[in-house]
Amino acid sequence: MSVDRRSGSSSRRLLARVRDVMAGEGVPQHRLDQTTNVIAADMVSEVCSIYVRRAGDVLELFSTQGLNPDSVHKTRLRFGEGLIGTIAATAKPLALANVQSHLNFAARPETGEDVFNSLLGVPVLRSGRVVGVMAVQNRASRHFTDEEMETLQTVAMVLAELFAGGELIGREEAMPTDGIALKPLRIEGSAFNAGLGIGSAVLHEPRFDIANVVAEDTNIERKRLYRAFKTMYGQLDTLFDQSPLADGDGGEHEDVLEAFRMVAKDAGWLRRTEEAVQSGLTAEAAVVKVKNEMRARLNTAADPYLRERVHDLEDLSNRLLRLLIGEECDAKDDLPEHMVLVARNMGPAEFLEYDHSKLRALILEEGSASSHVSIVAKALDIPVLGQVREVLSKVEAGDAIIVDGDNAQIFVRPSDDIQNQFHETRKHKAVIKAQYALLKDLPSETKDGVKISLNINAGLLFDFDQIEPVGADGVGLYRTEVPFMVRAEFPDVDEQQALYEKVLDRAQGKPVVFRTIDVGGDKVLPYWDELNEENPAMGWRAIRISLDRPVILRQQLRALIRAAKGREIYVMFPMVAEVEEFLQAKALLLHEWERERERGTLLPKAVHAGVMLEVPALALQLDKLLQYVDFVSIGSNDLMQFLYATDRGNPKVADRYDILSPVALGFLKSIRDQCDQAGVPVSLCGEAAGKPLEAMALISIGFRSLSMAPPAVGPVKEMIRSMEDRTVAQFVHSLLERPKMSIRQRLKAFAKDHNIKI
Ligand code: PEP
Ligand code: MG
Repeated sequence: MSVDRRSGSSSRRLLARVRDVMAGEGVPQHRLDQTTNVIAADMVSEVCSIYVRRAGDVLELFSTQGLNPDSVHKTRLRFGEGLIGTIAATAKPLALANVQSHLNFAARPETGEDVFNSLLGVPVLRSGRVVGVMAVQNRASRHFTDEEMETLQTVAMVLAELFAGGELIGREEAMPTDGIALKPLRIEGSAFNAGLGIGSAVLHEPRFDIANVVAEDTNIERKRLYRAFKTMYGQLDTLFDQSPLADGDGGEHEDVLEAFRMVAKDAGWLRRTEEAVQSGLTAEAAVVKVKNEMRARLNTAADPYLRERVHDLEDLSNRLLRLLIGEECDAKDDLPEHMVLVARNMGPAEFLEYDHSKLRALILEEGSASSHVSIVAKALDIPVLGQVREVLSKVEAGDAIIVDGDNAQIFVRPSDDIQNQFHETRKHKAVIKAQYALLKDLPSETKDGVKISLNINAGLLFDFDQIEPVGADGVGLYRTEVPFMVRAEFPDVDEQQALYEKVLDRAQGKPVVFRTIDVGGDKVLPYWDELNEENPAMGWRAIRISLDRPVILRQQLRALIRAAKGREIYVMFPMVAEVEEFLQAKALLLHEWERERERGTLLPKAVHAGVMLEVPALALQLDKLLQYVDFVSIGSNDLMQFLYATDRGNPKVADRYDILSPVALGFLKSIRDQCDQAGVPVSLCGEAAGKPLEAMALISIGFRSLSMAPPAVGPVKEMIRSMEDRTVAQFVHSLLERPKMSIRQRLKAFAKDHNIKI
């Protein structure tokens, strides 16, 4: 289809008029009514109607020129019902010279539409979602042209802005009213962090603030569009040609790159965008319009290959938008007081950009329990539900959502009954929490007198305020990279020193194990793009970076020595795979110590240098390692991922192994026993430590020190106080010889029989 200059100019005229109406005076309903008038007149149609999507996939007639005015706000259609419902359900326009010829035709008598024979309807799309339908109708059997359809689609783009403004339907209005406007949903997922949360849905996706939708000068917009496409092609070529993947071996990854490049250079895409500009949109609005239309179409495609192309297309469109209007706008300041964040998946840094005091829960379409975003959310005591399939297409921004992390389910647009139930359950949980608080001063000791040291894992300053209320013995793992991740640039020595001083002050003399910076994997520093790797979990991360770029580690150690101001410090190096690496890191620590001594700094009373045991190879070198380290902490999250070759962030393999198996427990026990024989203190700080059943098993194989997210301390202590170490140890040891993939059920049954509170 070539761009028709004549239809372009008439479409631009209409667009400009619609824009003026929308920007004009009056309540939104009035402006909507004027819009239907303008469109009907311009399109020479007897009818123009606008339907708005309400909660529960219902379309409500909001404004009409030509149908019975009494049916406005009364006529409601479900998605898929009649022709309007079909346009919404398929997200595709429909042009019919004779409406009766369509299988889904069903006239609504109250609207008086049975006398109109032809129809042209288009979906109103926003972020690829149908938010309404606009249609024109004529008595005569009229054949609508492609240009007319294009024009109506362009006007729909402008309308989408009015819909998005929240002026037409307030969020409260979309809540339970008369039944038909409401379809509450219950969706199951996997609980990554227990707990209950209620709030309004906030969808995590790049947002671009498009200030001008309608072009002042189409020629300028066309030039801007060409320039953006050209720059993008150049960027992609450089990116791909420099990519180590472009090695010319013809592997699958090359096909993927090539396919991506083909989508980018698809003449049809450029042409459609150009047509949208020609019809009167600005370059950025045209990109968004085409993106929305293609997303809506591809999302419903049966072919998975085509559906995959949606991601390519979004990536490319976002690149264009960045070129046209700069970075995405920071939408994070205008958020509801109680929010439930909904994302496909996200990294911990992105998560931390949201104000956690407002966050009531996190929902992920993908993700896994030991991914860093889950760990960070757990530290903040925010319930997380993951693997909630297609949640992003079922939830609208602003929907009320209850997240029930205890039972791995969410309620979208919950009814009053469910909300009441939620508040009851929450009260009950508050009572239980208060009971845990009572435990805080009681000893962490088994019934047969075995003392267990309970510590917390921390990442944010806020975590240190939890030491006292939960009654922890100290901080077994301070993930020092977390503060690096939430800053706009690398903190210098002074900034780090100030931070570590606060940390030590808040710990009030209790030990804090500082783990040196562990970036890589899913822990990305926004200001450091050296870390774009194919397989980052096993790539250049943690101690590997620290040894290759010693300045980073040395600055951190210097800041820590200075911050101690005479106090004792514990330093731990992550991802060590060789004894030699530990020795090199320790040499840097001694070097900094010496440097500070010469400088006259008040030195720490003592420095304990430990290692994080999370690479299986290191477990095979314990006899040598234990001669040099002051303590060992087992990072079971990474240790298990590498031991079993199962990505800790990949839900598909999350159930492939169980830490509660003879192999995993036997391995942990052998590490523990060797540390014990060498007289080196050993602790475990992975996620397993914070789960009562797992903690029970770990204690039974000899662990006497555990470190966990602060909210886990109460439940684990309660379990400890209800177990007898001797009997559990006997039972667990009797199971360790068996060739079982999991002894979880046996342990659960044992705990139940012996009244152990797991
Ligand atoms: C671990 O790997 O078990 C651990 C505690 O460290 P992180 O989760 O930060 O990788
Ligand atoms: Mg780790």
